[in-house]
Amino acid sequence: MTSRYSLKLLYPRDEIAGEVRRMAERISVDYAGKDLLVIGVLKGAAIFLSDLVRAITIPVEFDFIGLASYGDRVTSCGEVKITAYPTSAMEGRHLLVVEDIVDTGLCVDSLLKFLKERNPASLKLCALLDKPVRRQVPVNIDYSAFTIPDKFVVGYGLDYAQRYRNLPGIHTLEEAADD
Ligand code: 5GP
Repeated sequence: MTSRYSLKLLYPRDEIAGEVRRMAERISVDYAGKDLLVIGVLKGAAIFLSDLVRAITIPVEFDFIGLASYGDRVTSCGEVKITAYPTSAMEGRHLLVVEDIVDTGLCVDSLLKFLKERNPASLKLCALLDKPVRRQVPVNIDYSAFTIPDKFVVGYGLDYAQRYRNLPGIHTLEEAADD
């Protein structure tokens, strides 16, 4: 008996684009006149961030932070280590963290603690996807597009073993047993 994976489309690219535009409009209003620095979490949020910042209509800078996780490697961060640091100044600026998905919340919880120590003027979280049923620590998501069930998803930046990030839509990845 072997197993393989099947992809099922959850959100097509047009629906994602509409939600990203709506988020960008809200962000543009909320941060008008403020020194906004968007920090994307590598690699999963790179594609989302690139669409989001292009839809933001106020001046915005962006940077990236890299996280490595130990523990459950497929679905969660477990213990978190920072592997790539943003080079931008953060003190006194309005930081908006951009994540692909909040699952257990462990990754973003430790990331927000790290960024808070940089003394920003404000610190908020934007996550494309929210998977609340798996949460292990409370996380306040200021901007999010889709609340999803307990399924593993890929595409639009999200991977399985580094694959599928380039899919334009978001798909569930399900194990399908055969023979
Ligand atoms: P958390 O710390 O919230 O459990 O995990 C967040 C990170 O785990 C995400 O940034 C992502 O890298 C990974 N992750 C959690 N759920 C999924 C999922 O359904 N699909 C993919 N591709 N990654 C996920």
